[in-house]
Amino acid sequence: MSKKVLVLAEAREGALRNVSYEAIAAGKQISNGGEVVSVLLGDSVKDLASELGKYGADRVITVEHPHLKQYTSDGYGQALLAVIEQEDPEAIVFGHTALGKDISPKIASKLQIGLVSDVTSIEGEGEAAVYIRPIYSGKAFEKVKVKDGIEFITIRPNNIAPLAKEASKVADVSSLSVDITNLRTIIKEVVRKSSEGVDLSEAKVVIAGGRGVKSEEGFAPLKELADVLGGAVGASRGACDADYCDYSLQIGQTGKVVTPDLYIAAGISGAIQHLAGMSNSKIIVAINKDPEANIFKVADYGIVGDLFEVIPLLTEEFKQL
Ligand code: FAD
Repeated sequence: MSKKVLVLAEAREGALRNVSYEAIAAGKQISNGGEVVSVLLGDSVKDLASELGKYGADRVITVEHPHLKQYTSDGYGQALLAVIEQEDPEAIVFGHTALGKDISPKIASKLQIGLVSDVTSIEGEGEAAVYIRPIYSGKAFEKVKVKDGIEFITIRPNNIAPLAKEASKVADVSSLSVDITNLRTIIKEVVRKSSEGVDLSEAKVVIAGGRGVKSEEGFAPLKELADVLGGAVGASRGACDADYCDYSLQIGQTGKVVTPDLYIAAGISGAIQHLAGMSNSKIIVAINKDPEANIFKVADYGIVGDLFEVIPLLTEEFKQL
């Protein structure tokens, strides 16, 4: 049987996030030939709607309101519940992003439905869909089947491949007017910390540094390698706690979860809490002076050596390509 699936698209600074397309691909699989409706919220997002159609959305609903310019769970919650009421979907897909992680339990509790969070892959289609998600900090995977009611899932970024873009595909775009009222929080201004480069959670290449990097300046060779590879710099909590870098770079159980194609861990011992945030990366390269370091247990390639010698050599090699 086919299903109608509602998919939340995410935009940041006027551009759609890749997870929006991944969520559409997940929605297509769950819908089994049914309709996939993408929802886009913001103060001025209509221009982005057509792009969602090219990646497989059959229909796009935009909700525009000045209070949706910045994310608040109140504002987004009201808009999403209005769309859900209008569309009456059989399944809902959000990204397992900071936004998705915050809003999805609130929507689920309002609707009194279950939530299958942090899905990394889906087996089967439609009624037969089975959701696979990591448990015990990524040490095991469980398979979840939703027996009845609305299926509500969040998908981990970088795990479900988007559909190939079809430039000629056009989705039906409509807008829904929602009166966003009684907000408990109104964001007046966002002051951004200057952050350059690629978004860590969506990066295809992550170069992460740990306490072995030894100082803020010690991150410079990692940054150079990341630039050469078009990747992002991440860190262990050890490096963040030592004030070598900002906590926004922290990867792990209490930081960001990343699943890049290539993860290079430099001067990171491989504590279980760190592995929880990166062990599902496709290829893991560990650089550590200690041959017994735990990180080598999850690494596909291990280099026993000083990161300050190894990283510049890698950078030079990659520059030649
Ligand atoms: P260390 O364990 O000190 O390892 C440094 C490594 O660098 C060593 O293996 C050393 O051999 C190597 N090294 C030193 N110099 C060099 C060099 N020149 N070249 C190459 N290698 C070198 N940690 C996280 O990362 N993320 C989390 O989200 C997180 N959440 C936590 C939550 C809780 C509740 C708790 C209790 C802990 C959490 N931690 C987390 C902390 C975690 O337990 C570790 O303490 C932390 O990951 C260690 O960071 P590290 O590997 O950088 O440092």
